[in-house]
Amino acid sequence: MQYDPKQNHISCNSTRIEVDLGALAHNARTLMRALPDGGRLMAVVKANAYSHGARQVTRKLWSIGVRYFAVATAEEGIALRRGGLRGEILVLGYTDPAWAGKLWRYRLTQTLLDESYAASLDRRGYPVRAHLKIDTGMHRLGVDAGDKEAIARILGGCRHLRICGAFTHLCVADEPTVSCIAFTEGQLDAVRSIEPLLAESERSIVLYAKNSAGLLNYGDMLPDSMARTGIALYGAGDIAATLKHPDLIPVMSVRSSIVLTRRIPAGDSVGYGRAWTAQRETTVAVVPMGYADGIPRDDGERGGEVLIRGVRCPIIGRVCMDQMMVDVTDLPNPKMGERVTWLGEDGGDRITAEEIGRRHGTISYEVLGRLSSRPKRIYLDGKE
Ligand SMILES: *Cc1c(COP(=O)(O)O)cnc(C)c1O
Repeated sequence: MQYDPKQNHISCNSTRIEVDLGALAHNARTLMRALPDGGRLMAVVKANAYSHGARQVTRKLWSIGVRYFAVATAEEGIALRRGGLRGEILVLGYTDPAWAGKLWRYRLTQTLLDESYAASLDRRGYPVRAHLKIDTGMHRLGVDAGDKEAIARILGGCRHLRICGAFTHLCVADEPTVSCIAFTEGQLDAVRSIEPLLAESERSIVLYAKNSAGLLNYGDMLPDSMARTGIALYGAGDIAATLKHPDLIPVMSVRSSIVLTRRIPAGDSVGYGRAWTAQRETTVAVVPMGYADGIPRDDGERGGEVLIRGVRCPIIGRVCMDQMMVDVTDLPNPKMGERVTWLGEDGGDRITAEEIGRRHGTISYEVLGRLSSRPKRIYLDGKE
């Protein structure tokens, strides 16, 4: 291969995560339209906004009118506040009650995980904003929706906390089977059953339930005052199969470049463990993207591919920590510096996070969530 200086745009680390903020804004507007008038969109930006970069994602969403955000931990929320984010930031998971002062100072809204957690946070004496979690069958966090006495005790007993929300979490809203639909409808009924209790309390409390799949598959069911959407904002989540909305655009692309090509004879093996053997004379391209970037080590063995010039080229052998090898034999004259797409669109074809997840027995959430901090994030703001 000739090193053509005009072709060579490679920096030291050519592996990058491109985030299309225009697509993000488009998806947010699509989801806002799916809510009824007055319904609010809470953007779930936990885990660094599903690896897209929480700071840039929240900044873009704020610019188009999103005012509610959710994170997994208080640390994530504090980082966003320090970065200047305004609006409501709900912490979905556990925060040590000893952090009550920090929650208050950074104006974070804390999820109340159960009755004893609520009491313990309240005892710290800070007027922290809080949303009460209601368990309607997922059995992760929350007060049992049927335990009306406990809910009444929390609403009546917390003297310091400013409880201004109550929500549940749906666990099978993305599965269109008869039993999953019945379960989800039961969850929505159960959370609505606490409405009279909220009405009796002197507090003004917004009741809500839906995640992405809940909003898109059960949009016509109450409660619908707010939806906590994560995956749909990012244009992932098996949209075609289970969600009624086809009009969401994937936001992320994971790309790298060819840094070297070599020709090997039939019968030679490639990479660690000699896991792949050439059946024919093969052109191998080396791409500096590996499992430390978040590409599964066995991606090649499971049939993983990348797009180069819109052509699907197989990943061969084991993915290394920092590199992978790709069979580019069928690509005429592969060049140093050519763009390689592991996730995203190229030349009219697209590899989605769902496709990658399927070959690994998992879901798009995990494919996105496992991407590491190493790839440089590049923010594109195309037309919306
Ligand atoms: C992650 C999460 C969400 C977002 O779910 P999506 O399926 O990505 O829309 C909503 N609510 C809670 C409690 C979560 O943990």
